Amino acid sequence: MIRQAKKALNTVFGYESFRPLQEEVIGEVLKKNDALVIMPTGGGKSLCYQIPALLFDGLTIVVSPLISLMKDQVEQLREFDIPAVFLNSTLSPEEYRQNIALLRRGEAKLLYLAPETLLMPRTRNLLSELKVDCFTIDEAHCISEWGHDFRPEYRQLTEVRKDFPDAACLALTATATPRVQKDIKNILKLEDSEAYISSFGRKNLFLKVADKDNPQDQVLDFLYRRKNQSGIIYCFSRRQVDELYVDLKKEGHSVKPYHAGLSERVRNRNQEAFIKDDISIIVATVAFGMGINKPDVRFVIHHDMPQNIESYYQQIGRAGRDGLRSDCLLLFSYSDTQKIRYFINQKEGEEKQVAEQHLRSLLNYLESGECRRKPLMKYFGETYAGDECGMCDNCLTVDADVEDLTVQSQKFLSCVVRTGEKFGGTHITDVLRGSKARKVLDKGHDELSTYGIGTDWSRNQWIQRSRLLIRQSYLKKDKQYGSLMLTEQARSVLDGTEKVFGLLDRTTATVDGKTPARTSSDVENNYDENLFEQLREKRKELADERGIPPYTIFPDTTLMELSYYYPQDADSMIHIYGVGSVKLKKYGDTFMNIIRTYCQENNIEERRQPLKRRAKKSSKTAKHVRISEAFNDGQSIAHLAEEYGVKEVTILKHLKNYLDEGNELRTEGIAEASSLSARKRDSVLASMKKVGPELLKPVYEDLGKSVGYDELRIMQLYYLAENK
Ligand code: ADP
Ligand code: ZN
Repeated sequence: MIRQAKKALNTVFGYESFRPLQEEVIGEVLKKNDALVIMPTGGGKSLCYQIPALLFDGLTIVVSPLISLMKDQVEQLREFDIPAVFLNSTLSPEEYRQNIALLRRGEAKLLYLAPETLLMPRTRNLLSELKVDCFTIDEAHCISEWGHDFRPEYRQLTEVRKDFPDAACLALTATATPRVQKDIKNILKLEDSEAYISSFGRKNLFLKVADKDNPQDQVLDFLYRRKNQSGIIYCFSRRQVDELYVDLKKEGHSVKPYHAGLSERVRNRNQEAFIKDDISIIVATVAFGMGINKPDVRFVIHHDMPQNIESYYQQIGRAGRDGLRSDCLLLFSYSDTQKIRYFINQKEGEEKQVAEQHLRSLLNYLESGECRRKPLMKYFGETYAGDECGMCDNCLTVDADVEDLTVQSQKFLSCVVRTGEKFGGTHITDVLRGSKARKVLDKGHDELSTYGIGTDWSRNQWIQRSRLLIRQSYLKKDKQYGSLMLTEQARSVLDGTEKVFGLLDRTTATVDGKTPARTSSDVENNYDENLFEQLREKRKELADERGIPPYTIFPDTTLMELSYYYPQDADSMIHIYGVGSVKLKKYGDTFMNIIRTYCQENNIEERRQPLKRRAKKSSKTAKHVRISEAFNDGQSIAHLAEEYGVKEVTILKHLKNYLDEGNELRTEGIAEASSLSARKRDSVLASMKKVGPELLKPVYEDLGKSVGYDELRIMQLYYLAENK
């Protein structure tokens, strides 16, 4: 069964391998055992029941407290052609009837419903007629009064669970506190079941705390380098949300507000706009975020101090569910601390003590000079292994003095002059870095003397520089078009009479041209941004036609891989992350057409994908054939062993199989793998000729036990390949 699960992962979802614990949990569920799963947001909980659901004959029920989440999940599943439905109060009577009919006919694999719907007698009656193989309780912490989101209806699920004695019960949550975990176990009677708890160290989140001196400017600086990226900005109060919203709007950002003071209609509309990428940024109070499943939130800013570590962690957890690097910035000020103290002082007794404890933990985190992951993990009962994570401000702070940035500033300013003071920072950066972007070539900017003189700095560094030049009044920005123009003061920098100093923000800048983020892959750092934009636009168009969020079609990760590998036929496309057979059929051609045209216009060739992933996903060809063909193509045995993560002797076995089937192997590649001298090799071959090559023991004896079996196995293969 687990083999089938793996296959579903590859061919239906288009993913290469399981994430930590997924395989174990799925195995358990398939055996109809109960399990408790605790994984951080973005850990991949959904697949733990979605894959078994595909393999079971019967139905998988998923209890979920949030209607928006249900809808999102069902939409995503339908994009994979997996029959899923939900039942809740938002359905029209007609839709409700249709879904019920579908369930009765046994055509749905997954049913999502809210606890109150499940508790209704008519739902329970309906479900009692059906074969239910898995009973999943999502957001299982809602069962506990100790959690941050207690829901009394959840308590009654214990009763309902008895309706499905043959089903596996799977409880899932991202809440890490031991108290809540214990509650879930007790209430759902999971004491004897396995608990799967994964690490809460979200490695792809870059954590940064900055002193709040000029928050509006700090936020604008931060956003300047993040055009088109989705992000959430949390503020303490509604008023603060409204103010910041207006400020950002004025600066031309695509943004909407969200707080409890807005009508439900407006709130829903703004949330929807965010999910569907109609806007990039949402400025919100803590009211925002529950039920947001958007995987590509690239940043979370805390404009004000969060309530406590737990809510902070939950809020930043909304960033980077897709596993790509995402940035979390918290602006920290003394006066915010005072505000929280004021609220705490209005509480009494135990409640007050708990709140004080929370504040202490939070301050401990904020004021920490060591790796931020240490206090954070400690709070959740984990120890952070290792000294430095390389993904927080404290790990990356270089004790840099203010640097002399005159030369770099001169380059930037003169490029602004050469291009006629008509362009924004991104274009200037493209010219400086010698980009082949269409816009650069069309304008003939590749012929300017400043073209390509700035390759020693990363894109981010240049953009950051331009921002600093604006702040230091060397440049001014046209409010309407965003084009940059020189000020009088800039002339003296250009003619060398004035020097420019500044501090480079190392946490966003790159070191030696490489991003320090350890989780960033080559794909993430070097994908083709221009192609990515074109694919993104197409994705948005397709999503709008279907009325679904763009990420349901393909996540950003897929678009990045597409604009890195440039696949141009179905064979290569199927190996891209997130592309399974269904999506290949639905969208393959549309996206490949764009890629093909782009490659033709820009004279780009498809990039070969690593052998490992090609091999893993293609199920048609047997492994020993794939390995042997790669070997005949010139790959060494050692290389293949590494590629497949096996010992060399295993590769030899595969090669021998291939040979035994009547195929040929190149002999020089085999000899290469042997560490025997040429003389010794000849004596082994002579011995094989004498006593026969099939069995190794006689050869071993014949040679007076002077050559080990590993070497003999290599020479045996050589002998057989040569004597074909
Ligand atoms: P959670 O519910 O734990 O917050 P999700 O189930 O929504 O997390 O998964 C987060 C993201 O990771 C989704 O976009 C999902 O498709 C993706 N994902 C899950 N499992 C894998 C996997 N094994 N390989 C690649 N991507 C995965
Ligand atoms: Zn760190």
